[in-house]
Amino acid sequence: MDLTDHAEHRQFREEVRTFISEHRHLAPEDTAHSYRLMPRPYSEEVQNWQQLLVEKGYANRTVPSEYGGFGAEPDILKSKVIADEFFKANVPQGLYSQGISMLVPTLLEHGTEEQKKEWISRTIRTEVFWCQGYSEPNSGSDLASLQTSATEDGDDFIINGSKIWTSSAHVAQMIFCLVRTEPEAGKYDGISYLIFPMDTPGIEIRPLQTMTGHPSFNEVFFTDVRVPKSAVVGGRGKGWKVANSTLSHERGMLSNANLSHERLQKIEKLLKREGSDGRPIGENAPLMDRYIRLQARVQGMRFHEMRLISDAAAGKPRGLGDMVCKLIGCELNHQLDGLAIDILEEAGVLYDGIPSIELDGIWQQLHMYDLGLIIGGGTAQIQKNIIAERGLDMPREPRPAQG
Ligand SMILES: Cc1cc2nc3c(=O)[nH]c(=O)nc-3n(C[C@H](O)[C@H](O)[C@H](O)COP(=O)(O)OP(=O)(O)OC[C@H]3O[C@@H](n4cnc5c(N)ncnc54)[C@H](O)[C@@H]3O)c2cc1C
Repeated sequence: MDLTDHAEHRQFREEVRTFISEHRHLAPEDTAHSYRLMPRPYSEEVQNWQQLLVEKGYANRTVPSEYGGFGAEPDILKSKVIADEFFKANVPQGLYSQGISMLVPTLLEHGTEEQKKEWISRTIRTEVFWCQGYSEPNSGSDLASLQTSATEDGDDFIINGSKIWTSSAHVAQMIFCLVRTEPEAGKYDGISYLIFPMDTPGIEIRPLQTMTGHPSFNEVFFTDVRVPKSAVVGGRGKGWKVANSTLSHERGMLSNANLSHERLQKIEKLLKREGSDGRPIGENAPLMDRYIRLQARVQGMRFHEMRLISDAAAGKPRGLGDMVCKLIGCELNHQLDGLAIDILEEAGVLYDGIPSIELDGIWQQLHMYDLGLIIGGGTAQIQKNIIAERGLDMPREPRPAQG
């Protein structure tokens, strides 16, 4: 498909450029990437910027206006124009978060009218912050084996059990959480997807330190936590389908070609520096060899994404395309960080960064953070299994739990 701009998109590109040049002074002083690492809760500046983007249709563009969005018709080429122009201008686009990027599209697909009205607008405007209660101590890759229970009591459920690796639970106001409501049903059939406030009595949060040195993870314990039945999204016992819808949006959030391309461009600037031997780093053959290999892979990501856009514009399903982006993109970002660290020699290991260096020199921190993303949202091994079985039609691995 021809992805060059036609009149309508050329005009739209001009509108986006005008918006950026007139408003960039309001954007948070940050690059697109470290923006993702920003500590929550967000600063007022970040919240104001997100609200402006929502209002003008540059974030959550297709969320219907009755739920507080801009209400644009889906147009994949316009979305690409927005992403490209913000990227080129080095101005942060809309926020990524478990609420904005994962829960909101799930509610649009599966939520009741009441749930959509109550939560979508406030979530995309950062008035409410969410966490994801999926993983348990004995249920990670095999998520459907989860054991946190929700037993019926009149109009409520009573929840008991625990979750682990719950990112941002210590700052979240709300949780979307998988629980077992029908213990007698099959493994995939007895799960429900609930949304409820994190200050509900009976919830205890214990922060865990991650490799980045920040307590972004948590253990969350539920002891007789009372939640109304109206908190179920997508129907009682139908949570597995809803959970998978959220997971597919999570994969889309965790990686994209612009993110990897941005890193590569920062590395190109690092290559112009002088090494400790007084010679330009660009003359260091092993480093250049690594750079060129990664550059080819970033180009591959960009072409893969263009293929997905072209397919979407032609009405073809994305299939496992997002899963490929997640698998390749997260590994690629981790390798790009590693190259930057090696280029920077001893300065590369400084953990808290060096403000005068690209991306504030926080490459060591990014290296640790990106390693986590290879695991979070489904490990690389699990992504490979799914791509092999469902995408390449290879034999399925044995499922001992199902006999
Ligand atoms: C940065 C980060 C953020 C996270 N945020 C959240 C969050 O907000 N909410 C949440 O609920 N969870 C979160 N998680 C948890 C994440 O979803 C799990 O870590 C992940 O699903 C893997 O589960 P596990 O850790 O139990 O590993 P396990 O499932 O025990 O796997 C251990 C190892 O065995 C491999 N393995 C397992 N099964 C197979 C198989 N069938 N074939 C091949 N290899 C296999 C895995 O790939 C892995 O290498 C987060 C994790 C990270 C790292």
